Amino acid sequence: MSSHLMGVYNRAPLAVDHGKGPRLYATDGTVYLDCVSGISTNALGHAHPRLVQAVKDQAEKLWHVSNIFQIPGQEELADRLCADSFADAVFFTNSGSEAVECALKTARKYHHANGQPERIEIYGFDGSFHGRTYGAINAAGNPNYVEGFGPRLPGYSQLTFGDHDAIKAAIARPDTAAIILEPVQGEGGARSVPEVCLRGLRELCDEHGVLIIFDEVQCGMGRTGKLWAHEWAGMAPDIMAIAKALGGGFPVGACLASDKAAKGMTVGVHGSTFGGNPLAMAVGLAAYDEITKPETLENVREIAGYLKQQLAGLQERFPDVIEDVRGKGLLIGVKLKPNNREFMGWARDENQLLVAGGGDNCVRMLPPLNFTREDAADVIERFERTCEFARGKMKAG
Ligand SMILES: *Cc1c(COP(=O)(O)O)cnc(C)c1O
Repeated sequence: MSSHLMGVYNRAPLAVDHGKGPRLYATDGTVYLDCVSGISTNALGHAHPRLVQAVKDQAEKLWHVSNIFQIPGQEELADRLCADSFADAVFFTNSGSEAVECALKTARKYHHANGQPERIEIYGFDGSFHGRTYGAINAAGNPNYVEGFGPRLPGYSQLTFGDHDAIKAAIARPDTAAIILEPVQGEGGARSVPEVCLRGLRELCDEHGVLIIFDEVQCGMGRTGKLWAHEWAGMAPDIMAIAKALGGGFPVGACLASDKAAKGMTVGVHGSTFGGNPLAMAVGLAAYDEITKPETLENVREIAGYLKQQLAGLQERFPDVIEDVRGKGLLIGVKLKPNNREFMGWARDENQLLVAGGGDNCVRMLPPLNFTREDAADVIERFERTCEFARGKMKAG
C-alpha cells in the first residue's frame, strides 16, 4: 500500500494502538516494554491518570485563545519553572526546535539591546542535535541535516569538545554572541559533557560577555535524576530550551532566560499562535508537579544506578556485542559492535523491548521517570536475550 505521508521517517514496522505506563500495545495485540518513551517525552509513561484527567478537565473548559489574552496557566507554570531554576522569564512554544529558535534569537537580541549588535556569532558543538528548523540545523551543524537545504546561515559555526584552544579563541572573539550545547547529548549517543568542562565554559563566557544557551530539551525535566542536567555541574546557563517531557507527551516547549539575557525580548519582537495555550498549560502543570516530586527524582537516580550496574555486567559478559555504556540518569546509551539499527530490530521483534537509536552506533534507553525496579529487571533480561541473539547472528554471519 502506498502512503501519502512524506517519506522522511525510517519507521519501525509496528503500528501502535494504545499505551499504559511503560507498556505499548500494537494493533496486532503484541505488548512491548517501551524504553523509548516517545524519545523521552512520555516521562511519566503512557496514559498517566493525572495527565489524562488534566486534559479531560481542560478540554471541557478552554483549549485555545492565542496570546492576545492573559493565560493564567502560563503565569502559573512560568512561576514554577523560574522558582526551580536560574531563570526569570519564560516563553512557551509547541516544540523543542521552537524553544531553541527562541533561545538563539534571545541571545542575539540581548547583545543588540546592549549596544553590541556586532555580536551575532553562535557556536555549537560536534555531535549536537537541536531540532530541524533552519536555526536549529545551522546551530548543530550536522552535515546530514543541512545538506541540500540551500546556503548555511551566516553566524553559525561549530566547535569540537576537547579542542580547548579553538574554544577559547571563539569565546574571546568580539563578534561572539553565544555558545549552545546539550549538557548531555541525546541523539548524539548519550554523551555527557564533563562537569568540569561546563564550569570552565561558564568562567570563560563570563570573562568575555558571551551567553551560554543550554539545550535541555531531552536531558532536562528530571531525566538525569536532577530537575536540570546542568545542576550536576553546580552552574547555570543564561538561556535554556526545554520541551520533550514538559508536557508529558503533549506538545509544549519553553525558552527560559535570566532577566539579563531576556533584556531584548520586548513587546512585538517574538511570538507564537499556539505556544502556551490553555490545554498545553493544564497538562504541563500536572506533569510538572509529578516530575518535580522528590520521590520521582529519587526514583530516577535509583533505577539509573541499578540499570547502569546491570548493563556493566552485561558488557563484561558480552564484550563482543557491547562496547560502552554511557549517559546520565535515565538517558542511557549503549554503544554496540553490531549495527545499532539491526540490534533495535532484534530487541523489538525477538524480545518485545523498544529502544531508540542514537549517534555513534548507540542504542538509547529512555524509560519513564516513574519506572519500577521490576520493570528495570525485565528490561535487563530482555536486553540480555537480545545480546545472546546478536552473538548468534554475528557468529552465523
Ligand atoms: C528533540 C530535540 C530537539 C527538537 O525538538 P522537537 O520537538 O523535535 O522540535 C531539540 N534539541 C534536543 C536536544 C532534542 O533532543
